[in-house]
Amino acid sequence: MENKRILINLKKYFNLLLIAIALFLALGSAVVLADQNKIEVKATVVNVRTGPGLSYDILDKVKSGTQLDVISQKNGWYQVRLDKAKIGWVAGWLLNSTEIGLNSSNKVGKINTTNVSIYQQASTTAAVLDTATVNQTVTILYTTNGWTQVKYNNIVGWVQSNTLNTTNATDDNATQNTAIQGYRLTTKQADTKLRKTANMNGAIVATLDNDTPLTYIKSVGQWYQAKTNDGQVGYVANWVVTKTAVAEIVKPTSLAKATIVLDPGHGGSDSGALSNSGQYEKKYTLAVAQQVASRLREAGANVIMTRSSDQSVSLAKRPQISNNTNADAFISFHFDSTESSNDASGITTYYYSKSKDSPLAKDLSQQLSSLPLTNKGTQYGDYQVLRDNVRPSVLLELGYINTKKDFSKISSTSYQEAIADAVYKALNQYFS
Ligand SMILES: [Zn+2]
Repeated sequence: MENKRILINLKKYFNLLLIAIALFLALGSAVVLADQNKIEVKATVVNVRTGPGLSYDILDKVKSGTQLDVISQKNGWYQVRLDKAKIGWVAGWLLNSTEIGLNSSNKVGKINTTNVSIYQQASTTAAVLDTATVNQTVTILYTTNGWTQVKYNNIVGWVQSNTLNTTNATDDNATQNTAIQGYRLTTKQADTKLRKTANMNGAIVATLDNDTPLTYIKSVGQWYQAKTNDGQVGYVANWVVTKTAVAEIVKPTSLAKATIVLDPGHGGSDSGALSNSGQYEKKYTLAVAQQVASRLREAGANVIMTRSSDQSVSLAKRPQISNNTNADAFISFHFDSTESSNDASGITTYYYSKSKDSPLAKDLSQQLSSLPLTNKGTQYGDYQVLRDNVRPSVLLELGYINTKKDFSKISSTSYQEAIADAVYKALNQYFS
């Protein structure tokens, strides 16, 4: 009787084992990857879990010095391969001074169509991690069955191979390590509460809008301790924010290796300031940004526009594009105005952070001196597109739209081209 029961149990376990092996094999074959993307464990011991969160079971532990292949990234967690079959998740913030290094042989691909989804897995039903658009470049990691695994904006994901053209270039940047500086939280809904203690009864420190950026301090259970950009510290529930890694700002060594976000001010229902003849600011900010974009693209830079037509883009979204793409420079284009017309003239370059933004502002302002309007130099400016921006960013006021003399320049193609040339020269200087 006893023996028989043991035998039945053994048989049951054997069947379970077979199922487990089959599952591991299936999983393993779906994620056969080249060993391109590695992280190194710096903490003494790190738990590997079955999913991207502290609530998932511990699958294994890895020790300091262990190198792991990264398959994907989600909310600050890395999906890693432990051996040929085992796949688990490690918390990025437990890997002290984590480095992600890629081999030098990675080819560069160019997206050949608009709005290409980057999927977590090689399937159109998998979660979409990001969207790339025509002419953006990605690093090709691995190709299989009509799908290509790519690195794009520090995210590793999959695109359908027919949406890519392979170029002969290789990704030199990929050999450089991208160090993670810390984490940023972004609220997912309006009326998000920042509380004094890490629970629903905690006193409210602040009520935050949707898309508000916060600096992550630490995790306490299901809560994050975080700091707002104006210095308030409190706790926010982890289910009402998204958590993303902030890459350390390492200046590329040339403009051709840089990602530049250009932000044409206003757009859509927001017209901006008016010229004396009733022309909208939004029209000229776009015209200038487009001139700058084509000049920088000619120089090989990866240019991302916050808008490329007359559309509304929220003030919160603009710095978010810069943060999410780890922009090496963000430039917002505007034209000033005064209450009564013909009252002021000239160009001003605004920065928010002295350490992060003012070196870029200085180089830009220096080159803008070549323009035919008075250069009023650099100045501190408390603008949301700069304040909420974790990347080097500036805002340019390129003349007074309701001053006749300035508007005659603003509305001319030659002035717009001169701005593009000055920005190109300034960035060349900044990235050298
Ligand atoms: Zn403006």
